[in-house]
Amino acid sequence: MLLQLCRAATAVLLALALGASAASAQNVPSGGFTSGDIAVRDRLIAAQESQLDYYRCRFGVDVSAVSGGCADGSPTPGLGRPGVFGGLPTFVEVAARDRLIARQEALLNVYRCRYGMDTHAVRGGCEQFANAGSAAPGSGALLLPADAIADGGLPKGLVTPAGVTVAVAGRDGDAYRVVTPCGNHATVRTGRPLRDVRVVIDPGHGGPFDTGPRGPNGLVEKDLNLTLSRAVLGELASRGIAAATTRTGDYGTLLRVRALFADALGAEALVSLHHNAPTFATGAAPGSEVFVQSESRQSARADSARLGGLLYGEITEALSRFTGVRWSRLRDAGVLRVLVPDGRDAYGMIRRPNLPAVLVEYGYLSNPSEAALFATDEYISAAAKATANAIEAYLNTDRPGTQVRSQPRVFTPGNATSRCADVELE
Ligand SMILES: [Zn+2]
Repeated sequence: MLLQLCRAATAVLLALALGASAASAQNVPSGGFTSGDIAVRDRLIAAQESQLDYYRCRFGVDVSAVSGGCADGSPTPGLGRPGVFGGLPTFVEVAARDRLIARQEALLNVYRCRYGMDTHAVRGGCEQFANAGSAAPGSGALLLPADAIADGGLPKGLVTPAGVTVAVAGRDGDAYRVVTPCGNHATVRTGRPLRDVRVVIDPGHGGPFDTGPRGPNGLVEKDLNLTLSRAVLGELASRGIAAATTRTGDYGTLLRVRALFADALGAEALVSLHHNAPTFATGAAPGSEVFVQSESRQSARADSARLGGLLYGEITEALSRFTGVRWSRLRDAGVLRVLVPDGRDAYGMIRRPNLPAVLVEYGYLSNPSEAALFATDEYISAAAKATANAIEAYLNTDRPGTQVRSQPRVFTPGNATSRCADVELE
């Protein structure tokens, strides 16, 4: 932090001061600054920081960021006032302060919405802080903007001592405050930081309440997806592509947590791995299906479509090399948008993430011939290499993939289970 900060002002006075000055805080002047310009910004920064500390102490959130600590639910009073700026400010110095002010204001708004405090001061209202698909602000998980989290020097994600991957929501004393697979907050004392992750692999299903279908040979989808995801992660690591996974073992992870984990890490893509059921029809070629984002994620749509097309091409080519398999295949198999009747993406793993996301159904686990193939090491190796080939091409080239079918599939899936039992993190 730039300054020693004033902590004396009351929350009400600060809220009024911030309301009056927030409009000017967003604009970066173009030149001719005076030390008075800097002083105005430094006062605003100090006021915002003081307000942040007030929220932090009152609600026990990110208290490690309160430089003087909290006492009885309030910031410790009596610390210094902002230093007097000397010399002529440069554009860079003013711009740096403006960025800090904007970030502080964003974090203040997160606190306001989460705790229902001073919400009238939130320009644009609290709705903007609701993550896609999650409940209203105040419901907990991951309302902090990713850049606010990173600014504290915190990693965006962790592998906990028990090997569970979690998003980091803040600090709790010396511990990390994290979002559990079931969407609760917990603290962990230590963990391996996840930084600079480019792609998130999501093994579909998991745990006792969401197994996915069981093949005629006893192979269960959640286990097959996990085995394949580990092979994909190995392939990506061998190519120097930083990746993380939403699930490292056989436990439940809510769809919204999977999506928030990938968004929090700031990854460039999310690939969800699945194996399909039931069988409707047979075909001469693999019936792989890749679902991509549609109108509900305009910003990610083109990237999702290209990634999906690359995955479809690589995966169907790799599977076609296995001989003697009696494939299941729907007539419109390919790169697909699957929409509910009102036009939104049907699947949560496509609809919820803000980053480009795709969902791959490699083949039909319900088909005895395919299930036998999926149980082999040769399949896992080939499918993992094909998946990594596509991800590598997506990240490092402009190669287009197979075109998305123009005709969407219209389908209303059943509700995903919300039953979830959290596992030990440490
Ligand atoms: Zn599945």
